[in-house]
Amino acid sequence: AEADLRLAEELAHRAAFNVDNARLYREAQEAIRLRDEFLSIASHELKTPLTSLRLQLSLLERIMSPESLARVSGKLGGAHRQVDRLASLVSTLLDVSRIATRRISLELSEVDLTLAVREALERLREVFVQAGCDVTFQSWEPVVGRWDALRLDQVIVNLLTNAAKYGQGQPITVTVEADQEQARLTVRDEGIGIAAEALPRLFGRFERAVSVRHYGGLGLGLYISRQIIEALGGRVSVDSRPGEGSTFTVELPRGGPRP
Ligand code: ADP
Repeated sequence: AEADLRLAEELAHRAAFNVDNARLYREAQEAIRLRDEFLSIASHELKTPLTSLRLQLSLLERIMSPESLARVSGKLGGAHRQVDRLASLVSTLLDVSRIATRRISLELSEVDLTLAVREALERLREVFVQAGCDVTFQSWEPVVGRWDALRLDQVIVNLLTNAAKYGQGQPITVTVEADQEQARLTVRDEGIGIAAEALPRLFGRFERAVSVRHYGGLGLGLYISRQIIEALGGRVSVDSRPGEGSTFTVELPRGGPRP
């Protein structure tokens, strides 16, 4: 009888535990849903006044007399830059929200990876100058694949700006290679590198291997990049040693994602 009692107690305990687990699971699901909903509403709500602010700044520039414009052009330029920065943060949050609800959509077309990298390097020239990094681009020929031009550019810009940001003014090497099926983009820097324990989580949401105090950032760039690369049927990896630098490698099937 005593054994039965113990068994009954044990069963009651397990049942209570299971009920608790089911409830906890439902609550966690609900919390995740609320978080994603909040992210989506917040980023959309932020976008509207920003668009209007940008328009009003341009309008202001147009109706001002040349003399007044000359006096405030530095300030206006500064305001434009801050609006651009905010817009870029908001679009990052929108991307995270789209990923959370699987609403990230691809516009596939024929894209030349070599040209895309060259154009991004051109656009980021000032960023590299500021960082004091020399960039070598090793590529030999066009590498065309079925990709999403804007999303691919987002990945390239993320890897390049990270190399400049964490590259400590050391040389950066960018390579594009391909065979019939695969294209490979490599971005190598000789900067701060990444601690081994941070590597497994580096492509996660809000994951950072450095303190915000030293290097600003949301820790979302690599997360979004990985989601884009995987949506395109590819993969991304990193090889890094603290104090020696990092190499990020992106591999993409040229035929686009498998249906
Ligand atoms: P962010 O740079 O905005 O923090 P990312 O998602 O682009 O976010 O990168 C995540 C983290 O990975 C960074 O905070 C940094 O710790 C690390 N990291 C990324 N690229 C490099 C790099 N080239 N060298 C060293 N650390 C890097």
